[in-house]
Amino acid sequence: MKNYLRLLRFVGAYKGYAALNVICNILSVIFSLFSLTMVAPFLNVLFSQTSDYQQMPWSFSIKVLLANFNYFLSQYINEHGKLETLFLICALVVVMFFFKNLFRYLAMYFMAPIRNGIVRDLRNKMHDRVLELPLSYFSNERKGDLIARMTHDVQEIEWSIMQSLEVIFRDPLTIVLFLTTMVLMSPALSIFVFILLPIAGLLIGQLGKSLRRTSAKGQAQMGVLLSTIEETLSGLRIIKGFTAEAFSRLKFGKINEEYRRLMTRLYRKRDLSSPLSEFMGAVVLVVVMYFGGQLVLGAEQSLEPSVFIAFIAIFSQLIPPAKSFTDAYTNVQKGLASAERINMILDAEITIRDREHAISISDFNHSIEYRDVSFAYHQGGEGWVLKKINLKIEKGKTIALVGQSGSGKTTLADLLPRFYDLENGEILLDGENIKDYKLKDLRGLFGIVTQESILFNDTVYNNIAFGMPDAKEADVINAATIAHAHEFIIQMSDGYQTNIGDRGGKMSGGQRQRISIARAILKNPPILILDEATSALDTESERLVQDALTNLMKNRTTLVIAHRLSTIHHADEIIVMQHGEIVERGKHDALLAKGGIYKRLYDLQSFV
Ligand code: ADP
Ligand code: MG
Repeated sequence: MKNYLRLLRFVGAYKGYAALNVICNILSVIFSLFSLTMVAPFLNVLFSQTSDYQQMPWSFSIKVLLANFNYFLSQYINEHGKLETLFLICALVVVMFFFKNLFRYLAMYFMAPIRNGIVRDLRNKMHDRVLELPLSYFSNERKGDLIARMTHDVQEIEWSIMQSLEVIFRDPLTIVLFLTTMVLMSPALSIFVFILLPIAGLLIGQLGKSLRRTSAKGQAQMGVLLSTIEETLSGLRIIKGFTAEAFSRLKFGKINEEYRRLMTRLYRKRDLSSPLSEFMGAVVLVVVMYFGGQLVLGAEQSLEPSVFIAFIAIFSQLIPPAKSFTDAYTNVQKGLASAERINMILDAEITIRDREHAISISDFNHSIEYRDVSFAYHQGGEGWVLKKINLKIEKGKTIALVGQSGSGKTTLADLLPRFYDLENGEILLDGENIKDYKLKDLRGLFGIVTQESILFNDTVYNNIAFGMPDAKEADVINAATIAHAHEFIIQMSDGYQTNIGDRGGKMSGGQRQRISIARAILKNPPILILDEATSALDTESERLVQDALTNLMKNRTTLVIAHRLSTIHHADEIIVMQHGEIVERGKHDALLAKGGIYKRLYDLQSFV
């Protein structure tokens, strides 16, 4: 229920529409009620029961209202005859039905922007959250499951919970007004209704709970399904290359079948709610008819036949809203499973954020310093990826990190822009802990080029100017030229306006990497992080990219992680890492002369 109320809070932004909706619903219900009560005078006219009515002094009770209406009718009959009176009643009914439905439509008309607005707000909120959450959150989640939450679960909310909004604003009102009218017409008969309806409600409630459990399983399975699709799409090359189609088909088929099984169960439970509630409603109706009939036929004639029939007419009209109310209830239960999944994202803690009174920084002045930095990806665990790292990077210098794969180089670099936060030790930038700076400012100081070029499905131009909407065209072209990218870009079909496909799939690895470098050049950051930027390339394109990188590194402070040691001869300091520790450090020549780990690594590569 808490989750449901939380979703309802989103309605707050649409108070105006909500108010209009409620007003229209009230009017619709009132017209509906009046059109139904017309049954009584209609019957009275048919069976000539109207002649003996007296006018009564006005007061707010159904009895007086009816009596006066009947009196008015009897006068009308005396003056115009029965047929014309019948016509008058029919005309009144038509007019009331017209207004009832007009207001019903208007109510829905005002509801549409609320429903869709809430779903939009929800989607925006989740997307914002995903942008804010630390990277560590995503290494623990399946991508497909997150996508499922942002699309499928939000859709589920729109179907189930937003549908219920309509019902919440309309049906309780109808039910209360109808019930009140019924009590006013015949308190004795209404007692049956009041006893029997809650029993029916209880049964429906049990069904709803069970439905919610199944729905939760179904939505989770949808997440698994989407993850698998995502993996298939991004792994197509490998699947085909290893002729693993049969394996993929089998795996997907199994997951898909499990989803089908869950959904079948879900639909069967959901579909049970409607016939169940209708049947129970009918039973209550028959009970009421039986006892009401006895009141009419009884010795005291405590109930007038025409009022009794109007009572039944109203009661029969009570069943559809009561039914749609229970349907909405079961649907809400189904949607709540999705709401929980969505809240898991909305409630995920943003662990990396600005401190209070964070400091602004726009330039890098003298140095970066790692002080006793130890780091593990899983808190409290033993898996130290970095152990007691001490390292100083002076402004304008180039520091190279080398070491086997898995020795912690990327991790060490990722700590600088606070992709992960430290618990042990500290990193100082210009003498202040990096946690004290504004996150946006801090990240603005770095240009990052990684082994895998991260490109977006957009034009070449927009990929270079990514995150810099104010960039001038001349600057973009200049950056591309420095990055040795201009030549191949102008040879593409639409030049800078060519779309590069998903993740730049229409370009070679070297071209993608030069686009990434152009992006970094355009951003013009004081500090560069190059993480094996050339290691995925062939020798030919490596030379071009290396050239581009050399251009990029001019007049900047650089932390370069190198796979090929030949590229870092000129580094001001080379840091050799092993199992998360710095084992050697110094200049190229000194390290070679020392004949340690660096020399061994270097010799291994010289023969290639
Ligand atoms: P390098 O860049 O030197 O190859 P990394 O810094 O990428 O090494 O990784 C160092 C260690 O940290 C490896 O043992 C790796 O398994 C582990 N590791 C890297 N990223 C994560 C992560 N997101 N979650 C958990 N462990 C990780
Ligand atoms: Mg790495």
